[in-house]
Amino acid sequence: MERIDISAGFSIHDYRTKLKLLHDDGDTRTLENRAELGCPSCGRAFTRLFVTENATASFDAPPERPFCLARTEAKLLLLAH
Ligand SMILES: [Zn+2]
Repeated sequence: MERIDISAGFSIHDYRTKLKLLHDDGDTRTLENRAELGCPSCGRAFTRLFVTENATASFDAPPERPFCLARTEAKLLLLAH
């Protein structure tokens, strides 16, 4: 399984054929994993990826499933399994 590599940062463009953009408000994006990509934290396939360059992020409700966090110098990633 290909795993998202964040050792040199994270760019959606590197995985654009494997991630489907569900939501984009300019500061945050939510993407669906359409290719069994592996999570950069645990290696397991995830279902949704939330990514932001903002310093903070708030959620009205937690994902109803296990989730992992990963960060690069510029971005914060939340991966829901
Ligand atoms: Zn994970």
